[in-house]
Amino acid sequence: MREIDLHIHTTASDGTDSPAEVVRRASEMGLRAIAITDHDTVSGYAEAFSAGLDHGIEVVPGIEVSTKYGVAVHILGYYIENLVPLLAGVVNDRDRRNEKVAALMAADGLPVTYAAMKQRFGTVIGRPHFGELLIELGLAADMTDAFARFVGKGQRYYVPRTTIDIDSSVEAIVASGGVPVLAHPFQYKKTDPELRELIERCMDHGLRGIECRYSGYTPEQSGYLERLAEAYGLLKTGGSDYHGSHKAQIALGSGIDGNLDVPYEWLERLREAASQ
Ligand code: AMP
Ligand code: FE
Ligand code: FE
Ligand code: ZN
Repeated sequence: MREIDLHIHTTASDGTDSPAEVVRRASEMGLRAIAITDHDTVSGYAEAFSAGLDHGIEVVPGIEVSTKYGVAVHILGYYIENLVPLLAGVVNDRDRRNEKVAALMAADGLPVTYAAMKQRFGTVIGRPHFGELLIELGLAADMTDAFARFVGKGQRYYVPRTTIDIDSSVEAIVASGGVPVLAHPFQYKKTDPELRELIERCMDHGLRGIECRYSGYTPEQSGYLERLAEAYGLLKTGGSDYHGSHKAQIALGSGIDGNLDVPYEWLERLREAASQ
């Protein structure tokens, strides 16, 4: 039986299940605890927490912040209390980027306005929402195709976002009362010395953990990350990065092809760290 999933997106950002739906699904599959880690916001937490009370599931407040360190690096923050202005400001940059993307699409004659998207999708809108529109308009076959041909880096409707630097991101999570964790470390395609350098740099600014288990990671890959975490005295976390139908291949709690299994004990350590 799977126990926990500490990396989940809802409709508060670019997931397709509402926070309450995520909790209901987690309850159906018997999970004991989940963390809501929407991009740049904790606004989905209140609804998830309340649904968690109804279903008897522990719900942890979290966030995922995009930063840059050569490549795009994501930092998870757990037990966030109050977002400092730096993090709250990220949503404004996102909005400005999104307005440009919507304008590019409208200039091509597509029936897209950012105002309508805000009304339909809410406050934190990302490229998957543009992908969804492209699929609905019959221009893209699926989300992978939408990224490959339209919204992925270098494509017609790609506009970069200004991200906050990695040091400030980690510090902002600490200042928000949260525990910063390096997300999905293999996504950055770093060599072992490069990954260690990244970890050490983040630790200088308050990093407390590494996401060791993640959708698609092999037992060998996770084992390597767990040994790294232990060597640095960092916490271990794990989660699926569930986005609902925006990443249909990823299942809540169990990842891709059931590869994921995260022990409840890791959450206990994380909770202890947050209370210190
Ligand atoms: P944004 O933060 O708005 O630039 O959008 C980035 C988001 O797009 C990521 O958080 C992922 O959820 C999603 N994403 C990136 N690449 C892909 C892809 N190839 N297929 C589906 N979703 C993707
Ligand atoms: Fe996402
Ligand atoms: Fe991420
Ligand atoms: Zn994520």
